Amino acid sequence: MKKKRTRRRKKKKLDIDAYAEAIFKDIAEYLGLDTLGIDEKIQHEIVKEVMHTIITSLSYKPKIDVLIKRIKRHRRKINMIIAIKMLESIRNPTPDQLEFIITYGDRALIPEIPRLYRLAKDMSREDLIMMLQSLWEKYGRPSPIECPKCGFRAIMPDLICYVCGNIVSEKYIREMLGFEEKFEEYVKNASLAELNDVMNLGFVLSSEIDVKSPRYRIDFWKNIYYPIHLRQSDIEKIIEEMGKRKQGY
Ligand SMILES: [Zn+2]
Repeated sequence: MKKKRTRRRKKKKLDIDAYAEAIFKDIAEYLGLDTLGIDEKIQHEIVKEVMHTIITSLSYKPKIDVLIKRIKRHRRKINMIIAIKMLESIRNPTPDQLEFIITYGDRALIPEIPRLYRLAKDMSREDLIMMLQSLWEKYGRPSPIECPKCGFRAIMPDLICYVCGNIVSEKYIREMLGFEEKFEEYVKNASLAELNDVMNLGFVLSSEIDVKSPRYRIDFWKNIYYPIHLRQSDIEKIIEEMGKRKQGY
């Protein structure tokens, strides 16, 4: 038992970082890192990361052709690694670099969508903006209201577009949500005490589905509700409803 362990210890484990340095040129060339115009220092980091991804056993050293085969097999994942590195390290990407980042960055792009949108917009790349939009729909936090400026469904409860920073009016929110109808429905169903309370507060919360009192505990991760201030006409609706109910009793 003891002997065996000593023997195993003698066998040197593969040092992936050192090996990545040794065959850097071949791998970087195969990955096309020069063509993408990536800084040499970053290229080294990418090659290392790729090697850590494709080498799963430290007990032997795979030859270059074996590594290339593995890169081919996992190309999409590896392109994602490259895209994320580029995203982190390149402040002002060229159109080709931006295209690569947006094509392969996948869900990792979500926190950077405002910046990527701005870059794509400056380059007038509608195709890339469309790709960002579908990423936002898939992995982001699409809101019920589309921004009239950038087209992303990204107007948040503070009335600001998460993607382009555009500020919309409460009037726009009312229209987009179909607020009037939902508010009428709400007034019919809320208790008198709640209606009184809402009148005092001066506003309600509205989603694309319904209207709620601001006292209602909302899970903002599940649903986006927008604060809507009551207009005179809204208040009149409440008063009318109150009158009806009082007559009924
Ligand atoms: Zn916007």
